[in-house]
Amino acid sequence: MNEYVEYIFNFMLSKWYYTSVFFFLFFSILYFLGTFVTEKVIHLKLKKSRIRQIVFAKKPGQTNQEIKNSLLSIFVFSIQAILFQYLFSIGVFKIGFDNPWNCLWEIPILFLWNELHFYCMHWLLHRRWFFKNVHKVHHWSKEPTSYSIFSFHWIEAFLLGTVIFFPLFIHAFQVYSLLSLPIMSLVINLLGHCNHEVPIARANSSFRKYIFRHSMHHKWSTGNFGFMLNIFDRIFKTQVSDNKN
Ligand SMILES: [Zn+2]
Ligand SMILES: [Zn+2]
Repeated sequence: MNEYVEYIFNFMLSKWYYTSVFFFLFFSILYFLGTFVTEKVIHLKLKKSRIRQIVFAKKPGQTNQEIKNSLLSIFVFSIQAILFQYLFSIGVFKIGFDNPWNCLWEIPILFLWNELHFYCMHWLLHRRWFFKNVHKVHHWSKEPTSYSIFSFHWIEAFLLGTVIFFPLFIHAFQVYSLLSLPIMSLVINLLGHCNHEVPIARANSSFRKYIFRHSMHHKWSTGNFGFMLNIFDRIFKTQVSDNKN
């Protein structure tokens, strides 16, 4: 199994255009499969009244626009893949295939890194110039939907796409840890943008209210810059205040 994965990875990384096409297909499949499953689950759970919609502000033609923007973002990821392949080809980046047990600590580290990276980039995107010229594309969706997960201006797609680069400068992650990052990020993103939650009587700062927190971020276009964890919002006092919910 491991040799097979190693062979596929080495082949994919052998030419820049293989890496680029792989990134485009990989993220497209994740996007369309992820949105399909999320929409189906929402539909089923709504029918049984197990969940409630949080924000109601859908615009005409929103889904089509979000899909168009997302495909552009996936294209940007596939361009970044060229640099990714180059850094492998000159030996700056390395992948481990020999010690899958390392995934046990590497995956939690990548999860925390993903949260920190997202918080920092998202905070930057809410500075005046970035918001007016870049991040407004994502915030056009006042009502978030699963289709808005990659609905970005190309500069935002580029900034968020750098998440994988920094850890690889420091450590040769195992292949499964590396693959877990985009999958983990996609699942967190889909949940965060699904705009439906199981009604629970919990404070907005509680871990289980993270879908609600990102819906409030879209509703007010301010605060709640973190994603699943709100630890950085609490440290830097950037939460949406409770009286704005
Ligand atoms: Zn969002
Ligand atoms: Zn934002």
